[in-house]
Amino acid sequence: MIQLQSKLPNVGTTIFTIMSQLAVEYNAVNLGQGFPDFPMSETLTDLVNQAMKNGNNQYTHMNGLPLLRKRLAEKIEKLYNTSIDPDMQITITPGGTYAIYTALTAALQPGDEVIVFEPCYDSYIPNIEINGAIPVLINLQYPDYSIPWEEVKQKITSKTRMIMINSPQNPTGAVLSDVDMQQLQAITAGTNIMILSDEVYEHLIFDDIPHQSILRYPDLLERSFVCFSFGKTYHCTGWKLGYCISSAELMKEFRKVHQFNCFTCNTPLQVGIADYITKEEAYLSLPKFYQAKRDYFAELMKATPFKAMTSHGSYFQCYSYAHLSEEADKDFALRLIKEYGIVTIPVSAFYKNGKDDRVLRFCFAKKEETLEKAVEKLKGFS
Ligand code: PMP
Ligand code: GLN
Repeated sequence: MIQLQSKLPNVGTTIFTIMSQLAVEYNAVNLGQGFPDFPMSETLTDLVNQAMKNGNNQYTHMNGLPLLRKRLAEKIEKLYNTSIDPDMQITITPGGTYAIYTALTAALQPGDEVIVFEPCYDSYIPNIEINGAIPVLINLQYPDYSIPWEEVKQKITSKTRMIMINSPQNPTGAVLSDVDMQQLQAITAGTNIMILSDEVYEHLIFDDIPHQSILRYPDLLERSFVCFSFGKTYHCTGWKLGYCISSAELMKEFRKVHQFNCFTCNTPLQVGIADYITKEEAYLSLPKFYQAKRDYFAELMKATPFKAMTSHGSYFQCYSYAHLSEEADKDFALRLIKEYGIVTIPVSAFYKNGKDDRVLRFCFAKKEETLEKAVEKLKGFS
């Protein structure tokens, strides 16, 4: 019998897979895993089809299609007023999660400490641990999920090598402000601390709040890996295409890891997106588009006893049921599937120690009729 010593002995199957499987099993409305249920742009699928028909079907450049990188740099210049060198600072990746993994693998040595704010996207901690590094966990402040900067200062040691941030945040919908960015600048200035900024929801930000991208702050960018996902921006999570931006120095190391892992990404998708990315309205319209969904869902949910928390961005809105039940959130979420036919994500799944504030995450990146159907089921909740 072959013996394999697990590198992730405490890790099971991700909550997203579990919940999406249960959605199928119970034929439930799935507001769990984050993905849109409405169609993506036909213009973009046509462009990709055309790219295939035109013969763009072989390996493209290891760092990503040059035209796509050039156009990304132009987009960044316009949005964030920052000049990025497309040859040295951008790498196209098979999704945002891969970009995060690659950055962590390029940057971390065994024993390094990485500050992580919880609740967080469930890939972060395993991807730190698989590299032998140590997650130093800090809870975002319930219920607004802001960063407790004083605690961050206290937890920095000589081994702190990285701070991970995520705005707009999964699962809470919290967003960082310019004051947060100043705190980050003050804390990292003159240190050897890197930043991993997960900005996959950069365009999913509401209430006229500007997205505080690391790309706006040249001094922070120098020490950062910034990760993005075309899946979120173009309603095509199944395409699994994203990119990483960093300083040229850090990118050199990122590419060393990337080149022997995936080497290069899907060519026709990149050709199609390189064309579509010039249609600015497609991403500039997203804050309004998703804000309308958040508000529509929130309005419907008023007919239920669940208490809305604040969401200023992402696909997600959290609801508290602490006033309704003592049940653990995982049990409660399971009961909603079995008895009411609706799938949510229990927020304790985003804490390493399973901290349970009796909060559920709902994904509102859905057609209005899906949201209506979901809330109809919840109305009968008792
Ligand atoms: N970061 C966060 C916070 C996310 O929610 C997601 C969505 N899965 C990702 C990164 C990565 O997305 P993908 O790998 O699908 O591009
Ligand atoms: N990020 C998405 C979510 O939070 C799902 C990604 C995944 O399934 N790994 O729902």
